[in-house]
Amino acid sequence: MIDLFIRGMIMLIFVSGSIVISYFTTRLIAYLAPFAAISEFFLWSGTVVLSALLLMGAAYSYVYHGFGAQADIVRRRPSAGNKVVLTFDDGPSEVYTQEILKILAAKRVRATFFLVGSQVDKYPEIAQQIVEEGHEVGNHTYGHITVPNSPPSRLAAQIMRTNLVIFQNAGTYPLYLRPPRGLYDMRMRRIAKLLGQELVLWSLSSQDWHPRATKDSVIRRVVERASGGDIILFHDSGSLLGGDGATRRPTIDALGPIIDGLRAKGLEISSMEEFMVYPPEVTRRASG
Ligand SMILES: [Zn+2]
Repeated sequence: MIDLFIRGMIMLIFVSGSIVISYFTTRLIAYLAPFAAISEFFLWSGTVVLSALLLMGAAYSYVYHGFGAQADIVRRRPSAGNKVVLTFDDGPSEVYTQEILKILAAKRVRATFFLVGSQVDKYPEIAQQIVEEGHEVGNHTYGHITVPNSPPSRLAAQIMRTNLVIFQNAGTYPLYLRPPRGLYDMRMRRIAKLLGQELVLWSLSSQDWHPRATKDSVIRRVVERASGGDIILFHDSGSLLGGDGATRRPTIDALGPIIDGLRAKGLEISSMEEFMVYPPEVTRRASG
């Protein structure tokens, strides 16, 4: 009840705040404009458009970060001490996944791969290999969809179908769920709960998807910024981000030095399984 009240108040503050800001901004623009022929009608429509844009911005950042504590969404675990986790999204990929597996094996690191269902259908033996080599897998939807604007039936089908293809091909049920681009919503949180899966995002992106990413930029970013409790994001497939045939070469070249660099900083690279044992951040919310 109190929760609902607080949510209502937050909404009210955002709506009225954005209208007030937009009202004065359009007046200021009219005042500064060199011509005097701006009518009231234009000023008010300007106010409406601007406040709509502000609210859209607020809604967008809400989808990414939420307001207040969201204990069901795992981004980082400060209680995990010096432990960090490596995660790879969008695979399995025919070109890059096996190269990554080789490096992980040589460095004795257990990572987590968030698999795209359609990619598992294409490369089932690589999905199987990931699990056989001791890594964990998560669900990254079937077609790398944008969750918030998918209709309910599609969203549920995308998640359940991926669980099924992972289970059938890799012989394991994915305990983690990660929405593409980190865009989740209430429905996805409920589905995750229902299917016994943790919603796992990340706290440090290697930015390896960036078209100008290089081996050095990826190493520097991750090793300099990483601290205990971080979930670190990489990509092992180039086909879904940054256009067709985007290369994951910087990721592969950077991975070995990153593992060494993290260890040199005193960080321990742990599996998701070990990491999740640590309690989530203490939340402010007292009621269920
Ligand atoms: Zn992705």
